[in-house]
Amino acid sequence: MSRTDHTRLFLPGPVEVRREILEAQTQWMIGHRTSEFADLFARLQDKLKRSFFTESRVYISGSSGSGLWEGAIRCGVRDDRKVLHLTGGAFSERWAQISRANGKQVDCIQVDWGKAHSAEMVAEGLDKASYDAVCAVHNETSTGVTNPIGPIGEVVKRHADTFYFVDTVSGYLGTELRVDEWGIDIALTSSQKAFALPPGVAFAAVSDRLLERAQTIPHRGYYFDFLTLEKSLLKNNTPSTPPIALMYAADRQMDSILAEGIEARWARHRAMRDVAHRWALDRGFGLYAQEGYRSDTVTTVENKPGIDVNALDRFMRAEVGFAMDKGYGKIKGATFRLPHMGDVTIDMLREVLAGIDAFMASSK
Ligand SMILES: *Cc1c(COP(=O)(O)O)cnc(C)c1O
Repeated sequence: MSRTDHTRLFLPGPVEVRREILEAQTQWMIGHRTSEFADLFARLQDKLKRSFFTESRVYISGSSGSGLWEGAIRCGVRDDRKVLHLTGGAFSERWAQISRANGKQVDCIQVDWGKAHSAEMVAEGLDKASYDAVCAVHNETSTGVTNPIGPIGEVVKRHADTFYFVDTVSGYLGTELRVDEWGIDIALTSSQKAFALPPGVAFAAVSDRLLERAQTIPHRGYYFDFLTLEKSLLKNNTPSTPPIALMYAADRQMDSILAEGIEARWARHRAMRDVAHRWALDRGFGLYAQEGYRSDTVTTVENKPGIDVNALDRFMRAEVGFAMDKGYGKIKGATFRLPHMGDVTIDMLREVLAGIDAFMASSK
C-alpha cells in the first residue's frame, strides 16, 4: 500500500517537485512582450546570477539541457580548431558525440567509468595540442563522479585561447559551483535535477569572452545562438516564446533556495550523501565512484549483493510509493542510483533506504 497520493520520484531526473512549485505554474499566463514579463525575467535573472556565482548573465532556454550542449559547441568552437572533451560516463560521452554531430574536431581524454578527471590529465592534454575549449561534466550522473572543476579550471586559465565549458546539469544547486572564480565560460544546466523543477527549461551562465568568440563564428544556428539570446536578454526578454509557467516555478523555487542558502543547500546534499554511503557499505554494497570524487547529489551503488532492481522498483512503488532508479546505460542493473538531490530531505532519504531494507528482507 502506497503511503502517498502519487508515486514520488526517486530518480536522478526528473526529480520529485514540491506541490508549491507545481502550483506556481498555474498562475495566469502573460504575454511575453509585456512589462510584466520583463519584470519576471529580471527578477529571475538576478537570482540565477547569484546562484551561479557569476556577474555575467544567465540565459533561459525553453529546452532541456542537451540543447545548450549544442549551443555551447556551436557558439564557442571554431570549425578549424579542436575541442577537448573529458569523457568517462554516459553524459560526457554524449556531449562529445554532439560536438562530432555538429562537425567539430573532437579529442577526448577518456577515463574508465567511475573514475574522475584530474587537473594533471588536462594539463597534459593542453600541452599536446591547442583547443578552443575544454568540455567537462561537473557531476557525471551515470557514474556518480564529481570532477574537480575548480582545479581543472586553474589549468585551463593558463591557456588564454582555451575556454572552459562545464555541464553542471546534476551539480548546480546541489554541490559547490563557482562560475566566475573557477574561470568557467559556460555552465549549463537543466531544471529537473537538483533545481527540483519540472523538466522543460534549461539555464546557462555565459562569459563575455564567449560572446566575443561567437561573433567570429558564422553558422551558430538560431535557437541556441547566444548572440540572439543576448540581444533579447538585454531587454529582459527571450527571442522566441519562453516557457512562462516554468519560469514562474523557477522564480518561486529560487526564493526557497535562497532562503535555505546556497551553501546550506550544498551542505544538505553532502549530509545526505554521507547517509547513503554508510547505508550502502553497511549492507555489503559498493560505491561505484572513485573515492574522493563521490558525488553529493547522486550515489551510484555497486550492486554487489545482486538485488533484482526491477523487483525493487515494483516493491517500492507498491509498498512505499517511490519510483526507483535501476542504473544507467551500460552499468544498468550492475548499479543503481540513489539520487539524493533537489528538495529531497534526510528523512525522505531514510524512508527510501528503509524501504530498500524491507525489500531485501522480504526477498531473502
Ligand atoms: C540529465 C543530464 C543531462 C541531460 O539533460 P537533459 O535535460 O535531459 O537534456 C546532461 N548531463 C548530465 C550530467 C545529466 O545528468
